[in-house]
Amino acid sequence: MGRILGKMGHMLQNFEGAHSKQIPRIQSLVINKTGKNRGLPADGIKEFWSDYKNLTRQQKEERVRNEYKKILAFGTQWNEVLKSLEILPATAHWIVKSRNRLEDGRPGWEWEEYFGAQLIASNKIYDWGGPDWIKSHKSRAFIRDCFREGGLVVCYQVEQQAIIGFSRLASDGYTIEGVYCGFDLVPCDSAYKLKHPLNIANLRATGCNPVGFTVSGQGTIASLTNDEFAGIIAAVCRAGTEDEDDLLKWLKQSGSGDGTRPPIGRLANPEYPEENTAPTAGELDKVFAELEKRFAGRTDIYVRRKVSALIRRDGPLIRALKEKYKHKCQFPKCSAQIPKKDGGNYSEVAHIQAASEGGISHRINLLVLCPNHHKTLDYGDVEVLRNNERLLKIELNGEIVMIRR
Ligand SMILES: [Zn+2]
Repeated sequence: MGRILGKMGHMLQNFEGAHSKQIPRIQSLVINKTGKNRGLPADGIKEFWSDYKNLTRQQKEERVRNEYKKILAFGTQWNEVLKSLEILPATAHWIVKSRNRLEDGRPGWEWEEYFGAQLIASNKIYDWGGPDWIKSHKSRAFIRDCFREGGLVVCYQVEQQAIIGFSRLASDGYTIEGVYCGFDLVPCDSAYKLKHPLNIANLRATGCNPVGFTVSGQGTIASLTNDEFAGIIAAVCRAGTEDEDDLLKWLKQSGSGDGTRPPIGRLANPEYPEENTAPTAGELDKVFAELEKRFAGRTDIYVRRKVSALIRRDGPLIRALKEKYKHKCQFPKCSAQIPKKDGGNYSEVAHIQAASEGGISHRINLLVLCPNHHKTLDYGDVEVLRNNERLLKIELNGEIVMIRR
């Protein structure tokens, strides 16, 4: 226990270092049940409070009380910490993306097959997944850490770019061949197949653009927020098809929603401001005024450090990577070079998985690219098929691209 607390404490300290933010010592919540430190954290906490051992009992109590206040006051900032530690939030709504052709040309999976299973074996729990199909680390982490029986599944077929129907998990996630990549679905006659599949373009037209369908929502499985899920249901209803009544009834029967149509609105994706309406000049003025107030009286160096920490957490890594590739675009056969008047060339570094989506600044998540290929990747339809220290294999707008490192 002490070791785990110590490890976690140091993890949080590293986070503090990277974010110049003081994180309350949650280790202090774990207290002794017996002994002279009964009701207080064990002496091991001296790793973080070096003077702890020499304090009187009263001083220790005082220290701990103050820390508890700080922990409470930290409030929603804890979410930020969890996100940065790549601890996934619990959610009950999932997108499972099915492809009918795998990267090596073998046939894949089709939602039609699941819904059609009714004809073959009704009442049969349907097992999905497998190491061949679910390869992304994030998808596997979802299955391991978050897939719980009863979770709602939005059935998405990649080739049609459409939501085919809705189902539920009939099991928690489990391992196949040693990796978390398996899960069961309720029998198809307990699922809901849309009479009119919902095209993603039609969904986006309602202002709902779940992160799971955007460039950074790669992999087979993506999570949906409550708002995103409500947006999908609202879009089905708004399409004015005969699905509305039946789908709302199905959701109510399976314990989601109250049988009424969720409202449309407030669904624009805040993670992707460029896809929402641009801020007005007035709003921008407000942002600048706020920043000026925040930085009033600070030195230039302080401001620059804060701003660059906000924009990029990984300056030295980015610089090293650009040096390594001599500012040449890593995209195959690209020879773009942008000389700078003061010497050297200009290049950009792209996150394969966007930083805003928890993408890590590790070199296997980074690519040195020319501006053209950077944006091609940002705005294109990208799926990562393989990514390791030697090779990145992606499907980009329907084409396979191999990038050697
Ligand atoms: Zn290029």
